[in-house]
Amino acid sequence: ARTHAPEPIQVFEPAMAERAMGRLTMASRMRQAIDSGELTMHFQPIVDAPTGEICKLEALVRWCQPDGTQVPPAVFIPLCEKAGLVLPLGRWTLDSVAKACLELAGAGHGELPVALNVSAVQFQRGDVAAQVRAVVNAYHLSAHALQVELTESSLMDQERAVPALRALRAQGTHVSLDDFGTGFSSMSYLRDLPIDSLKIDRSFVVGVDTDERAASICRSIIVLAHTLGMTVVAEGVESESQYSWLSRNGCDQIQGYHVAQPMPLPSLLAYLATRPPA
Ligand code: C2E
Ligand code: CA
Ligand code: CA
Ligand code: CA
Repeated sequence: ARTHAPEPIQVFEPAMAERAMGRLTMASRMRQAIDSGELTMHFQPIVDAPTGEICKLEALVRWCQPDGTQVPPAVFIPLCEKAGLVLPLGRWTLDSVAKACLELAGAGHGELPVALNVSAVQFQRGDVAAQVRAVVNAYHLSAHALQVELTESSLMDQERAVPALRALRAQGTHVSLDDFGTGFSSMSYLRDLPIDSLKIDRSFVVGVDTDERAASICRSIIVLAHTLGMTVVAEGVESESQYSWLSRNGCDQIQGYHVAQPMPLPSLLAYLATRPPA
């Protein structure tokens, strides 16, 4: 009797052609979205917890299709990456953030740094420090104008991450570790890597004021970060009670709908104009 199943034979099925076609169509749709202005950048304020003053902004990309359909970044960024568009997407992101920095400076908000998200694929494929340096120079921005948010998955390959993070540190680009606690968390990279701040993931912030376990996790992240000389940012803060819990427990900065939604640059400039000067 046969003990092994026969080797599967590769048959070319119509479904495969469709898949390949689908990928092609998706790739050209994504390419078009990047090239033809369907992507826009929104900016969400991050405030200093004790004072409530805006201390930086996070850039979040938006894709609005010509028929008006909004596609969330969590959906279309992985599609861009599958379609081989990591570099054009990264270039578009850096460029639109640099332009926003110029407009912010023109409106008297040149001191507000803008943090941009770099996916693990972007981080692994390119020299992020060199890319940031290139736009900082091209737009004559201050070295601190742009910041970078990475996730834990970018740091798994430490041999690659160490020189990349050192290069960012050396040129004055602040690095935050995003979604902290949700990925493959390793204490060794916290010990060894030059990271400036930790962002507590929204999933821990949700129950911080009601659930003792969520509260314990947030408290531990805050102590850990401070012990290692890093600042702590809480994301996804939606209520006054979450805000005050975090502030009372030493969280340095707050981001979330309770403070402000992500908004396009003109709305952000209007919003900044209504706030009293720092
Ligand atoms: P993230 O970096 O963790 O960004 C925070 C997400 O939480 C954003 O979703 C933001 O709009 C949302 N958010 C902010 N405050 C609140 C709140 O109080 N409550 C809730 N429920 N949500 C809040 P968004 O804009 O849909 O982005 C999703 C993810 O897509 C981001 O997660 C980031 O990983 C990625 N992403 C966004 N823009 C870019 C980009 O330009 N490049 C790259 N590589 N990734 C990006
Ligand atoms: Ca982020
Ligand atoms: Ca985040
Ligand atoms: Ca998150």
